[in-house]
Amino acid sequence: MSAQNLNLAMWQADPATVESKVFLRQTLGLTAAEVSRTVHLPGKGSGFVHAHRRNEELYIVTHGHGWLYIDGAEIPVGEGNVFRISAEGRRAIRAADDSTLIYYCVQADAGSLVQSTRDDGYKLAEKASWMKE
Ligand code: ZN
Repeated sequence: MSAQNLNLAMWQADPATVESKVFLRQTLGLTAAEVSRTVHLPGKGSGFVHAHRRNEELYIVTHGHGWLYIDGAEIPVGEGNVFRISAEGRRAIRAADDSTLIYYCVQADAGSLVQSTRDDGYKLAEKASWMKE
């Protein structure tokens, strides 16, 4: 089966860590969320505090550690942390002086999810190669 026939869109992060933000909605053809990957080099971070009109954000820290500014407080964040920020949350993120910080951010319209995996997913009869009969 060729890749064109799969219900799949894939992107590969650049292993080189340069200060960057990559938005994936268009690349992956996402229709229900925006996803971005951000790399902040040691001591670098968001150049401004921001909030959103509609979208809540889910942050997934995949590498390093740093600081989250949220509503006037600054709290440490690091690899493995997953956190949601309400649309109106005033936020900014920076890497610690001794660490590159890499995180993904998923933006979705707050309150738009009317069901989730256990209601939406359903089992099929077909098997992958690693599944026993
Ligand atoms: Zn945002």
